[in-house]
Amino acid sequence: MRVTISAIKADIGGIGGHTCPSGELLETVRNFVVKNAKGLLIDKYVGYTGDDIHLVMTHTRGADDERIHKLAWDAFMEGTKLAKDQGLYGAGQDLLKDSFSGNIKGMGPGVAEIEMEERPSEVFCIFAADKTEPGAFNLPLWRMFVDAGSNTGILINERLAAGVIFRIMDVMSGKVAELKLWEDKAELEAALMYPGRYVVHSVMSADGDDQIVSASTDRLHNIAGTYVGKDDPIAIVRTQKNFPATEEAGSSFNEPHYVAGNTRGSHHMPLMPVKLNSAASLNYSIPIVSCLLFSMRNGKLTGPHDGFGTADWDLQRMRAAERAMIMRNQGFIHPATLVPDELEYNKGYEARMSMLQSKFKDLEEIMNGKSKAATTTTKPAAASTTTKQAKAGSRKV
Ligand SMILES: [Mg+2]
Repeated sequence: MRVTISAIKADIGGIGGHTCPSGELLETVRNFVVKNAKGLLIDKYVGYTGDDIHLVMTHTRGADDERIHKLAWDAFMEGTKLAKDQGLYGAGQDLLKDSFSGNIKGMGPGVAEIEMEERPSEVFCIFAADKTEPGAFNLPLWRMFVDAGSNTGILINERLAAGVIFRIMDVMSGKVAELKLWEDKAELEAALMYPGRYVVHSVMSADGDDQIVSASTDRLHNIAGTYVGKDDPIAIVRTQKNFPATEEAGSSFNEPHYVAGNTRGSHHMPLMPVKLNSAASLNYSIPIVSCLLFSMRNGKLTGPHDGFGTADWDLQRMRAAERAMIMRNQGFIHPATLVPDELEYNKGYEARMSMLQSKFKDLEEIMNGKSKAATTTTKPAAASTTTKQAKAGSRKV
């Protein structure tokens, strides 16, 4: 049976800041999806990671289907009304257009979709992250499919050993490069090196027949033409059999790596694996990722099981918290903050830089200005002491 999984997420409001949706908001979105699922969806799940609500929907209509995307859009619009009524922070912030126009991509929400011939035991993970950007998945997906040091399956599973095809998107141009392992490994790694620019769009099997990964790749600031928040990513990863084992996929997140995002979307901090339906932390909004595990048969979902819910993940959470403090202790100095290219979407930063630029002059101009000021403002009576001090100072320098 051909089934499509659509995972669509949006931030439409948080309690007291960018924390988590209210229970009423989640219920409103969930009820809307349930009420309008008839004749459209086989199954659905609604949950959240930080302030992002995600809809996981199964159906037979393929990817980029207008009715499925409209259902998600309308559910988020309905939720936004309630978020505004409750005075939630950032109500409707990811809905960048006034009306739906055929495809939810490019309108603000993040979308990951895979159409597949369902396997007898179809299993998949959904990684939903908050307070970061799509490039946050570059390293884990590299560990999953390229790094035998992280994933022994690459050596002992014939299909994984044959390599996969990475589709990498340049988020500035929207163009996609197909890079095949193992011949394009160096170019793939060169792209993954810069998560702010090149992000994994999808991963296909070596023969191109099976889609294993789909990840959301929209960058909100490119859509809106101005900075409106970080574009928290969501990804679907199919696991088991010819794909990575579920635990090979999950363990790719076991070494919390530094990603862009956090408070004001302007910092680097480690990506902390969290339990399902976790709020974002008040500790400078450490980036978080949750893992929803599902089994599926004829499009019917069983789950989610909480992939990062077992006791051992508490260690990774502690590591992430420690690494977060190491970076935060560095304050605003790079690399604690983002590079200027990414910060420049922040209006306040732009204003600071423009003030700064206006103060830059040739050194000679500053020195001449200073000596002129000194001669015109210094009174003769005070001159002897001041000049002596200035001369002593200048000798030292
Ligand atoms: Mg968010």
